[in-house]
Amino acid sequence: MDRKVLVRTPEARRLGGVTITDNWPTGLYPVRGVMSVPHVLVDAGGAVVLDTGFPGDAARIVRACARQGIGPRDVRAILLTHGHIDHAGGLAELQAWCGAPVHAHPAEQEHVDGVFPYAGAARVCGVLERVGRAGTGYRAGTIDVALRDGDELPWWGGLRVVHLPGHTLGHCGFYSAKHDLLFSGDLWARFLMRTQVSPRIFTSAPTLVWPSMAKARAIGARWMVPGHYDIADAARLRRRFEELCAERDRRDRLELV
Ligand SMILES: [Zn+2]
Ligand SMILES: [Zn+2]
Repeated sequence: MDRKVLVRTPEARRLGGVTITDNWPTGLYPVRGVMSVPHVLVDAGGAVVLDTGFPGDAARIVRACARQGIGPRDVRAILLTHGHIDHAGGLAELQAWCGAPVHAHPAEQEHVDGVFPYAGAARVCGVLERVGRAGTGYRAGTIDVALRDGDELPWWGGLRVVHLPGHTLGHCGFYSAKHDLLFSGDLWARFLMRTQVSPRIFTSAPTLVWPSMAKARAIGARWMVPGHYDIADAARLRRRFEELCAERDRRDRLELV
């Protein structure tokens, strides 16, 4: 039998409800949220929370921090890839908990506030978010620091902001040169056992998705971590992204013939 068997020791190999593999950097703690996977990035300089999950996920993130000995004063910043309810759902709560400044693209505040004017197929997203807000007692947080493409953030050995619009207009990834790893947000996702590019109903600007996929691919990061996935294997996730891109290339070539 040559099937690779994951060796699990309960503490070391499973963190925050997520199975961790060897293809995973030290200091990156995923948190299995209701829908998405927020992360806590930790090094000697403190911690950064990347995305805040669905309403109710904030408590999970706080517990994940506590497991690593991270208290509220250790949190340097909260970063948002975008303002959908499954990423900004815990924002107000975490902001109140740690008082750290929230960094995101300014276009995301409308999503956080629940006032973004969805059009076309994405109106479905607006309806789902409204239902989610109403059913959870959602409170909107505030973006304190506006991010722009190319901004260099000092945490976790340095994170470069990569504006990847399409899923939402202000959707951003974060590239860590130190770990050669791209956090790609919801540009694409591994969700319900399927790898897919941002689905139409969750996409504010469909024409921008593939240019952003190309931009992410051009970075050539060794590892990739999206906002939705099953197993924490950043090499396999990178391969899944590459497969999506290659499939698109094949379709494009067929259309040219
Ligand atoms: Zn999203
Ligand atoms: Zn999401």
